[in-house]
Amino acid sequence: MPGRRLRHPRRPHDREASDPVENYAALRDAGFYGLNVPAELGGAGVGLLGWSLAAEELAQGCASTALSFNMHLSVVGPMMESPLVPRAAKERLAKMVVHEGKLIGGNFSEPTTSGLVGTPVPLTRARRVDGGYRLTGRKAFASMIAVADHVMVLARPDDATSNTAAMFLLVPPDVPGRRVDLVWDTLGMRATRSDFMTLEECFVPDEALLLRTEDVLPFRRDGANWFWGSYTAVYLGIGVAAYRAITEIVKGRTPPGFTQSLAYHPDVRRQVGEMSVDLEAARLLTHYAAWLSDTQGPTPATLSALYRAKYFVGEAVTRVTRTAMTLGGAHALFKTSPLERFFRDGAVAPVQFPPRDFCLSTLGMFELGLDPGDVLPPLKSDRPDTGPVVR
Ligand SMILES: Cc1cc2nc3c(=O)[nH]c(=O)nc-3n(C[C@H](O)[C@H](O)[C@H](O)COP(=O)(O)OP(=O)(O)OC[C@H]3O[C@@H](n4cnc5c(N)ncnc54)[C@H](O)[C@@H]3O)c2cc1C
Repeated sequence: MPGRRLRHPRRPHDREASDPVENYAALRDAGFYGLNVPAELGGAGVGLLGWSLAAEELAQGCASTALSFNMHLSVVGPMMESPLVPRAAKERLAKMVVHEGKLIGGNFSEPTTSGLVGTPVPLTRARRVDGGYRLTGRKAFASMIAVADHVMVLARPDDATSNTAAMFLLVPPDVPGRRVDLVWDTLGMRATRSDFMTLEECFVPDEALLLRTEDVLPFRRDGANWFWGSYTAVYLGIGVAAYRAITEIVKGRTPPGFTQSLAYHPDVRRQVGEMSVDLEAARLLTHYAAWLSDTQGPTPATLSALYRAKYFVGEAVTRVTRTAMTLGGAHALFKTSPLERFFRDGAVAPVQFPPRDFCLSTLGMFELGLDPGDVLPPLKSDRPDTGPVVR
């Protein structure tokens, strides 16, 4: 974005957990809303590798902006790429984001669902009525919910016969029956404002429907590049920012009575070396996974690479941000120190979907060549559709 800098959110957006609206506007002005829309529909046609490069940079300025904005890309991308989505729906969505500059949130998560047991279908229901649908349910962790122009809601059709049927519908902010519950007061990624949303008999017209499928699992698996793989580079950016900050800090601190900065201390040098290895390995895994995804599509090798990268980035960024804060010492504990925020934001990395243990167990399944359909659900269930989310 030539000439524009993202506002640093340490003060006030991180402090107040407020929406970085000026950053979303800067991204819109720079053409980012149509980033992963195909060129033939007016977008930039950028793949996961291109976004990963951009996300690493953006997250160094404001990780919350990069993460929230990625919700937009992570729902637009699969809609554009999936052959299951009707052409007319793709064109409608492309027009909204490219030509009308609309920002789209993604509301799949619910307060009760858990990746641990792999419930693929939400409790939110879509009931067919004259001219559209009525939605009822509760969504959780809905990033930038109060400022997005629309949110893409995952719901289960009321009339579905299959256990894995699902619908993706666009819900505008001002529709009667939609309420945002301001609950987001968290350790890290505070400016994402990932609040909860309640829908009560909320009406949306027919055009709000982008996709209905009787089995959502292939759609989610084939869209794993954007749905899940696109957050990885955001967290990598937090680690890189912490690394850059601490290297400047140790080079700038010379204790009284000495002629060299702390950077010359052998313990400091060793820890900087360790952080550098972690970050470079994390970056290579991230780029390789994105390149595989862009060139091969959702093959087992691609999915393995995406989960491997997310796992490693989560662990590496947790280590790097902690080391940076420790090396920064008591100075780094202040709210005015960027290291304090990087530590808190970095702590979210292994939790962000796909979380660390999900990555490992799914990666293990692919590496062992197991048929996901044969992998037993981890807990007893009275539903036949439980099991790993990736099948
Ligand atoms: C900053 C932030 C922003 C978010 N924004 C959005 C958003 O805009 N829209 C949206 O829909 N969602 C969003 N989410 C929600 C997110 O994508 C997950 O759906 C949500 O975090 C899942 O809930 P959970 O982490 O509490 O629980 P769980 O899924 O129960 O995970 C808890 C822990 O269980 C373990 N685990 C989970 N699955 C497995 C598995 N299969 N195998 C082994 N172990 C496993 C992991 O250790 C994991 O950390 C956001 C989350 C965060 C942190």
